[in-house]
Amino acid sequence: MTRRNGNFLLLTLLMMLVMCQQAIAQQKKNIIILATGGTIAGAAATGTQSGYKSGAVTIDAMIAAVPGIQDMANIKGEQISNVGSQDMSFDIMLKLAKRINQLMPGNDVDGFVITHGTDTMEETAFFLNLVVKGDKPVVMVGSMRPSTAVSADGPLNLYNAVGVAADPAAKGRGVLVVMNDWIHAAHSLTKTSTTAIQTFMSPLRGVVGVSAYGKNDFYNTPQWKHTSGSEFDVANVDKLPRVDIVFACADMPPDLIDASVANGAKGIVIAGVGNGNMNKASLDAAAAAVKKGVIVVRSSRVPTGSVGRNVEVNDDERGFIASDELNPQKARILLSLALLKQRAKGDIQNLFTSY
Ligand code: ASP
Repeated sequence: MTRRNGNFLLLTLLMMLVMCQQAIAQQKKNIIILATGGTIAGAAATGTQSGYKSGAVTIDAMIAAVPGIQDMANIKGEQISNVGSQDMSFDIMLKLAKRINQLMPGNDVDGFVITHGTDTMEETAFFLNLVVKGDKPVVMVGSMRPSTAVSADGPLNLYNAVGVAADPAAKGRGVLVVMNDWIHAAHSLTKTSTTAIQTFMSPLRGVVGVSAYGKNDFYNTPQWKHTSGSEFDVANVDKLPRVDIVFACADMPPDLIDASVANGAKGIVIAGVGNGNMNKASLDAAAAAVKKGVIVVRSSRVPTGSVGRNVEVNDDERGFIASDELNPQKARILLSLALLKQRAKGDIQNLFTSY
C-alpha cells in the first residue's frame, strides 16, 4: 500500500467513526435536567458527617459526577434555583412549570428531569402533575445523602431518572418521582423517613414501576387526571391564593382556624385526626370560616387511607370538602390551584376525586 493510499484509508475510517458517533447521538434521546437544589446538590466537609448544606453543587458538576450518563442520553442542564426544598416556594414552582411548558413542544426535547430536595418533592411533583402541558416524561429525583457522602445515593438516582425520562414507556403517566430504584406517581407518593434512603413510599397505590441502571419495568398507570388531561393552567398566573394547613390533635385549639381566616387564607386544609376529624370546637370554627367564604378541606394526618364525605362529620351540613386520597400538603396544592377561579363547592369536591 502506498503512503497516499494509507492516508486515504485512515481518513475514510475516521469519517466512518464520526458518522457512527453522530448516528448514535441522533438515536439517543434529548433530556433536559432542570435543577432546583436539595440534598442531591448538597455538600459537606467530610464524607461521614451528618451535617451538610443543601443546594451547594451546580447541575453541571452533578452531571459530571455520574459515570455513563452522557452515553444514555444527550443531556443539557439548566439551573432554576439552588435551594433546600424546605425553601421551595410557589414562585419557584411557577418558574419551573413555565419553563417546562415553554420547552415541552420542542422537537429537540424528549423528556425532563427535575432535581429537587426530598422534603417537599411530593408537593412540587403534584403541582407539576396538575399544570404541565404535554405528555413527554417529567421525572423528579433527589437524594437523601449529600453528594460528598460515603455511598451517596444521588448519582445512581440521577442516572435512573434520566433512564426513565428517556423511556417512551414513561410517557403519559404524569409526573413521576424516581428514588432508590422505585418509580412513583406524583399523586400517590409521600416521604416516610427523615433519613432513610428508602424514604418514598406510595402506600395506597403502590409504585408505578422500578428502574435499575437505566432499564425500567412499568407496572401501573396512574388513574387520575394529570398533565395534558388537566384543566389547570398557570401560563398567566404569578401568585397563588393563600391556603393554610391546620394540624389537628387532641384538645386542638380552634383559634388556629380563626387566625388563618384573619390572616387572609382563602382556603384551609385540616390535617385531621383519623378520617379527617377534629374536635367539636374546631368543627364549629371551621364551619364559621366556611360561612365567611373560606373553602375548608378535611384531609388526614394519618399516612394511609382516604378521607370520605359524611363519615363522622356531616360535610353536607357544614359545607366542607373531603380530600379523598390527597394528604394535607397535596390537598393544599390542589385547593390553591382550584381557587384561581370561582367554582361551586360541588365542583371543588369533584376535583378531589379526579386529580
Ligand atoms: N432538606 C433537604 C431538601 O429537601 C432534604 C433532601 O433533599 O433530602 O432539600
